Amino acid sequence: MIRAMQASFLAVGTELLGTDRLDTNSLTLTALLARFGIEMRRKAVVGDSVQDIAREIRSMLDATGLVVVSGGLGPTSDDVTRQAAAVALGRGMHHDPAVEEDIAEKFRRFGRTMAEVNKRQAQVVDGAEVLENRRGTAPGLRLEEGESTLFLLPGVPREIDGLITHYLEPWLRQTAGAESRETWVLKVVGIGESDLEQIIAPAYEEFSREAITVLSKPSDITLRITAQGEEAARRERLEAMRRRLVELAGKAVYSLEDEDLETVVGRMLAEAGATVATAESCTGGLVAERLTRIAGSSDYFQGSLVVYSNRLKQLLAGVPEELLERYGAVSEEVARALAEGARERLGTTWALGITGVAGPGGGTEEKPVGTVHVAVAGAAGTHHRLLRLPGDRRRIRWQTSQLALEMLRRRLLEP
Ligand code: AMP
Ligand code: MG
Repeated sequence: MIRAMQASFLAVGTELLGTDRLDTNSLTLTALLARFGIEMRRKAVVGDSVQDIAREIRSMLDATGLVVVSGGLGPTSDDVTRQAAAVALGRGMHHDPAVEEDIAEKFRRFGRTMAEVNKRQAQVVDGAEVLENRRGTAPGLRLEEGESTLFLLPGVPREIDGLITHYLEPWLRQTAGAESRETWVLKVVGIGESDLEQIIAPAYEEFSREAITVLSKPSDITLRITAQGEEAARRERLEAMRRRLVELAGKAVYSLEDEDLETVVGRMLAEAGATVATAESCTGGLVAERLTRIAGSSDYFQGSLVVYSNRLKQLLAGVPEELLERYGAVSEEVARALAEGARERLGTTWALGITGVAGPGGGTEEKPVGTVHVAVAGAAGTHHRLLRLPGDRRRIRWQTSQLALEMLRRRLLEP
């Protein structure tokens, strides 16, 4: 067993102390540890200094049974984590020819020769197990010291993720036993955070406040449910919680996984054998951009009209000039005409029409910034919604795209 089931993490890199880069590796690690019921006790960031790193490692080894260090395993002279670990443990280092050969082989594979500096990466702290890095040149190291275990892992997120999967996770499984904690996710759209809180309040009472957490982005809420204990009991509890939440929140739950709305809408379109197009004014193609983030979206996404000016609303989407003059570009009538025009001209099953005032300028008393009209045209007619959205331009555009996708999802749910 890991001593007291506690861990520390040290991020090494002078760049992480500056203003343009933040440690993210500890987030991945903390999430993994949580699954094994291991508490992250301490996190620290230090620059590329042997002394600072060594002091921190020493103190973390004294405090917790598991210490993970990331960064500073590269080939350049500012990469000193190996050396610092040797200092912290009072051990020597040796050159490992097998590691050097392995690095040289990686260079050969890309038609290059290994630089002299890369030999530094073949330096191994005495007594360490070498952890192969399949996504980069710097191998990781695992060291046992007293009752504690120290992992030295690379800083590049893609590389550390690989080593975590291949070495740390199996080690945890073996040392800490079976995973004892599990988190599931439900995604919710179309209700505000405080409304959702009220709706799901009964579940807080039936289960526990701690078991359910609400993470909110504008118009996109993640519900996380967590259970501990032996696998079968844990799963049963998670299923019961999920069932209850879906019962309470109803159709606002759009996914039982950690998916984006565009992924879910895309899948529904594909399953229905339907196609979609958009005619977008204030979102400038954002809905189209989101739909095309999904690989395979060509199965259902046909294209988009980005019609910012009144001239192009008429020319491309066929919005009658008279509507624009009578009701203005930001109006229910024009949103409907955009959706219907796009559907007809582009020949799709569904089309979205979007027009609004994203700000910061352009608002009037009658149509203040945040006034948005969205229409969804389909075979059974056109639905429209008027939205009054808070926030700045970026947020208004994002929420509009989210609510447009949500309106389409609701139509796709209809029999
Ligand atoms: P290093 O292993 O120290 O050579 O780090 C290589 C690169 O990985 C750095 O330039 C950073 O961009 C990135 N990196 C290092 N440590 C972290 C960290 N804790 N979180 C996120 N990125 C990191
Ligand atoms: Mg570094």
